[in-house]
Amino acid sequence: MERFPQKDIEIIRKWLDSKPLITIITHFNPDGDAIGSTMALKLYFEALGLTVDSIFPSPFPSYYNWVPNVSEVLIFSEKEKVNFANYFSEDRIIFCLDFNHPSRVNQLSEFLGNSKAKKILIDHHVDPSPEFDLSFSYPGTSSTCELVYDFMAKFGITPLNKNMATCLYTGLLTDTGGFQFNSTHSSTLIMAARLIEIGINPNEIYNLAFNNFSFNRLKLFGYCITNNMTIVEDKKLAYLWIDRNTKTKFDIQDGDTEGLVNYPLKVLDIEVSVLFKQDYDKIRISFRSKNDTDVNKIARQYFNGGGHVNAAGGMSKKSLKETLEYFESLIPSIF
Ligand code: 5GP
Ligand code: MN
Repeated sequence: MERFPQKDIEIIRKWLDSKPLITIITHFNPDGDAIGSTMALKLYFEALGLTVDSIFPSPFPSYYNWVPNVSEVLIFSEKEKVNFANYFSEDRIIFCLDFNHPSRVNQLSEFLGNSKAKKILIDHHVDPSPEFDLSFSYPGTSSTCELVYDFMAKFGITPLNKNMATCLYTGLLTDTGGFQFNSTHSSTLIMAARLIEIGINPNEIYNLAFNNFSFNRLKLFGYCITNNMTIVEDKKLAYLWIDRNTKTKFDIQDGDTEGLVNYPLKVLDIEVSVLFKQDYDKIRISFRSKNDTDVNKIARQYFNGGGHVNAAGGMSKKSLKETLEYFESLIPSIF
């Protein structure tokens, strides 16, 4: 499929002609792809002489604080809620990156939903909702960073510099799990090669993105794998959970549980892994698979979520215990 058809590029060119203010927004709990695509597009538009405000609906993990210019991002806080309305005013162009539904921007979904501004979606999750003025939705693509890279190449005008390339590589690397997932296509690796030619340091970015644990985070992973994991061998399934007490005990930040869900998949015979995280008012659930089990479908149908075939998320308003019991009751029929 041709990405970013020329006619759509011309529409965006027209919209940007009068140098409108730009808002870039991504999903809450932003990951490497959300952060990388937001920062790359911000730096790109700024290089074109545009003024850009970038917004994260919730804080980002501190282990991403090296991403170029990430300190410029506005992070939503309930206290300043009213001020955030400004970033959704009618005269703006809003780029929505790495999410497929307004609910993914949490408390900002009301502003985004009601905004009269032109909204442009660039994303790779399945089934995007229809309210965007322009929708560049390409499920199956490695990352939103790969799409932003394509967009920049089509839009042209200014070349990529090393900072933009570093941001883009971050999302490309993290959303493919270090180029391991099915979404790693030749276009993904060709893009990686180009970014290396521009001067990014793949080893450094890998270490910053993946080899960045605190001791506590490492111990938490060990603790959960040892004490809070059930293996269902005949279903090639493992599921784990983290309750609030454990979080407190290891004194960890919210983003510190990222990646834990992947560990059971290190066992050759485990093909699906699920992680239940107790939040203040809900249980957040992460699904991963390394076969053709469509965890997006499971997240969508049973846990009010979504995502991709091999990586999805959802939530439950029940207690942790009840959520686990509900999940266990589903196992015979869904796996
Ligand atoms: P994670 O488990 O890392 O939170 O999310 C895995 C994937 O599922 C990500 O691509 C993320 O965007 C998507 N995802 C996570 N939670 C939700 C959700 O509540 N709704 C939808 N539609 N997608 C989600
Ligand atoms: Mn992504």
